[in-house]
Amino acid sequence: KIRVRFAPSPTGPLHLGGVRTALYDYLFAKNQGGEFVLRIEDTDTARYVEGAEEYIEEALEWCGIIPDESPKKGGKFAPYRQSERRDIYDRYTEQILKTDHAYIAFDTAEELDAIRAEYEAKGDVFSYDNKTRNRLRNSLALSEEEVQQLLEAKTPYVVRFKMPVDRTLGLVDIIRGNTSVNTDILDDKVLVKNDGMPTYHFANIIDDHEMEISHVIRGEEWLPSLGLHTLLYEAMGWEAPQFAHLSLILKPEGKGKLSKRDGDKFGFPVFPLNFTDPATGHVSKGYRESGYLPEAFINMVALLGWSPADDKEILSLDEMVKEFDLHKVHKAGARFSKEKSEWFNHQYIQKTSDEELLTILKNSDLSLNIDDEKLLKIIHLMKERATFPKDIYENGKFFFEAPTSYDEKASKKAWNDETSNLLTEFAEILNSINDFVPENIKKNLHDFAENKGLGMGKVMMPLRLALVGELKGPDVPDILELIGKEESIARISNAVN
Ligand code: GLU
Repeated sequence: KIRVRFAPSPTGPLHLGGVRTALYDYLFAKNQGGEFVLRIEDTDTARYVEGAEEYIEEALEWCGIIPDESPKKGGKFAPYRQSERRDIYDRYTEQILKTDHAYIAFDTAEELDAIRAEYEAKGDVFSYDNKTRNRLRNSLALSEEEVQQLLEAKTPYVVRFKMPVDRTLGLVDIIRGNTSVNTDILDDKVLVKNDGMPTYHFANIIDDHEMEISHVIRGEEWLPSLGLHTLLYEAMGWEAPQFAHLSLILKPEGKGKLSKRDGDKFGFPVFPLNFTDPATGHVSKGYRESGYLPEAFINMVALLGWSPADDKEILSLDEMVKEFDLHKVHKAGARFSKEKSEWFNHQYIQKTSDEELLTILKNSDLSLNIDDEKLLKIIHLMKERATFPKDIYENGKFFFEAPTSYDEKASKKAWNDETSNLLTEFAEILNSINDFVPENIKKNLHDFAENKGLGMGKVMMPLRLALVGELKGPDVPDILELIGKEESIARISNAVN
């Protein structure tokens, strides 16, 4: 059975990289007919951020990445929050100590600082490992009585992994292929902290085993931990899942990892939803609030590091599920592009029905003083040029309010001494049209220009300027119809005076 988990730590908002990991976890699981699990890794209480878990759940929901099992939904392997699984970790701590793959260490933070300083003074770097552990205060170096005394005196201790000496480990990664590491460069990582809580490494492998996870698909930053994790599975006598490590998402200029701060710096969102930092009150911008459609957002995210077989670019979540292949995930980092994100949103706006866009606009904070029927027509005329739903309003502001000024350059081009008389005359013609629809308006415009012996542009341009304030927008007859007869005439009279 294929089971894949997304295991974020609630240390802040989910960012683009996290969303991509969750998406690939989900796509792989669903492509294989398997299950997708959300597990919250909250054993590090010092880094816990209030609201982060809720944020993660809400963000995944907005993206349509719906877990089969999660803290909210529950499931066969509940609880899905590590802070609630302490008894399970305690049991396995006992096991790993008993089988001598781990040991307890009493060194205080001050003692370790002192040793570190000593090494530094010699130009060396201290590492708690198989070369130094015998000189430190732990159950491998002390006598059994000493250990017993320290325990009886309730001396705080941590549990450390006993890294094997000089073993070369072969490591397999689905995306990166085979690599190897020698255990002598790895240290004796802390598995259980002095408050009794397991560290990420220990809790993570226990839960992946307990929750019957078959594939671990996660960020590249965890690749250096693969050796330790492989050895932990071995020490526990468990079969390890298969691993795939995803390459970084790079800054737009391609140099370095896209960071959580880049959103503020470059003015584009790196988070799915707005996030308010509970400590500082700082609001980081989200894709949702910036006017991105969730379908466009996940489509963009999916292609940061994966291309479907025929290099198709527009895919629904269902299509992605059908086509997803871990072997086709790129080894090289994927460069983020703001323009490409906007391109995706533009494409999806075109795919969205006028009615849906109407709902989106009416749910926004724009003040739309126009009835739905007209609004639908405006949407229909304006969506072709819109990247965000609000563009329909912003590029079509003249539908909602009269221009307060006229573009200077356009005025020079469109206006001359005769224009005022010309438009005043045409306003009378407009006034006489009974059925004020584009076809009739167009016909009258034609006849008017012909009678005057003028090209259409000579009438159309100043008319557009009078209605819009600039030389932009859809066809003039369409604008006239939507603004309405009265308002159109009012705008013309405003412009000629
Ligand atoms: N809790 C880890 C994180 O926040 C999970 C890493 C993993 O998937 O093993 O990234």
